[in-house]
Amino acid sequence: MDYDFLFVQTAWKIMDELHRGSSTAEGLSACLNILCEALSCNQGLVWISDAVSDQLFSVAEYGLANHVGLRIEKGKGAAGSVSMTGKSILLNSREDRDFLSETERDIGLLENARLWVPLRTGYGVLGCVQLGRQDQDFAPDDRRIAERCSSIIALDLEEKGIDSLPEMFRRPLLSLRNVTREYENGDRAIRALNRVSLDVYEKELLVILGESGSGKSTLLNLIGCMDRPTEGQILVDGEDFSAPTEEEMTEYRRSTIGFVFQAYNLMPTLTALENIRFIGEISDNPMDAEEALSLVGLSERANHFPSALSGGQQQRVAIARAIVKSPRLILADEPVAALDYETGKEVLQVLQAAVKESGATLIIVTHNSEIAKIANRVIRMKDGKIIDVHINPNPLSAAELSW
Ligand code: ADP
Ligand code: MG
Repeated sequence: MDYDFLFVQTAWKIMDELHRGSSTAEGLSACLNILCEALSCNQGLVWISDAVSDQLFSVAEYGLANHVGLRIEKGKGAAGSVSMTGKSILLNSREDRDFLSETERDIGLLENARLWVPLRTGYGVLGCVQLGRQDQDFAPDDRRIAERCSSIIALDLEEKGIDSLPEMFRRPLLSLRNVTREYENGDRAIRALNRVSLDVYEKELLVILGESGSGKSTLLNLIGCMDRPTEGQILVDGEDFSAPTEEEMTEYRRSTIGFVFQAYNLMPTLTALENIRFIGEISDNPMDAEEALSLVGLSERANHFPSALSGGQQQRVAIARAIVKSPRLILADEPVAALDYETGKEVLQVLQAAVKESGATLIIVTHNSEIAKIANRVIRMKDGKIIDVHINPNPLSAAELSW
């Protein structure tokens, strides 16, 4: 194979694609396809650095499914390291893989030859391109072609700006920075949260996992603005929200958040439909209450009072009540802990489907690690700290769980 010819041909196709004027995300995806095909790769990913969150996010994939929108910590694993140092990493099939991040292992095909090349311009590194090959190692010439083509892609991306990528890739809905929450208990303070930092993104399903007393509900209450931090910063849409007034807290809860608790908290004197309609009426942009009830599969029970509904049905009404506001964020604290296995699983399915339909972000707090399998991202807590963040490239549907 004449490598110079292959380079010129591939570079030409890439530049041609970049001049077509498609959106930045589409252009990156098309360029990745061209590069993967030229180098006979069976999989590829483009990772971009997010200056706001100190993470990388994947914006394009080749030969994979559902790997767009993943996040990894900058500096960790191969992609994280290449995006910091700007130096390529080549990992042929027999070489050591211990330094890969958990996410990179999860993406699978570990027996492949792998190559990470920086998206590098004269000003810095914007991220990296990750390539995988099934049956053949990468040669030094493959690496040179990948590096040079990636620089062409990087120059174009720099010109268009990272801001031209879709919102969900780059901006957290809410961020916590070194947040501490202490409770006074007589003369001693209980530190329920200890310098926790976390970003919550549009449309993700985040599970917060941990044993009883680890600080999960405290964290959720801060995210839901039912409580204020003792120390640290909270940002909503990039704006400081660390010390809101009571009115600001109420307004944020009303306009942005839907809550589902372990106890269903329905109004006993209102029917199922009235419980939903009541919340809809105090919202800015409500869904139709009947539609919300039908999303949770309870249309036939519209006129039943809570006392005439089973636990699972009451929790489904509570989910409809959270959804009807069209909130950006739905917070569920142990939503199925009070239910038996079968009912709990049904309710989770309903919650997962209804949230997907509405396009909201969902955070579920649970002590049940099986439930974490439906998450895009799992945060494990212990003693008021986040001890592990795990990105799940292949979340399960709630129907596939068993515990
Ligand atoms: P989890 O939801 O993971 O079970 P919590 O966030 O409820 O944990 O509690 C974390 C720690 O903070 C526990 O030690 C708990 O006893 C304490 N705690 C929670 N709420 C209060 C409160 N209102 N007053 C005093 N201590 C509290
Ligand atoms: Mg709790």
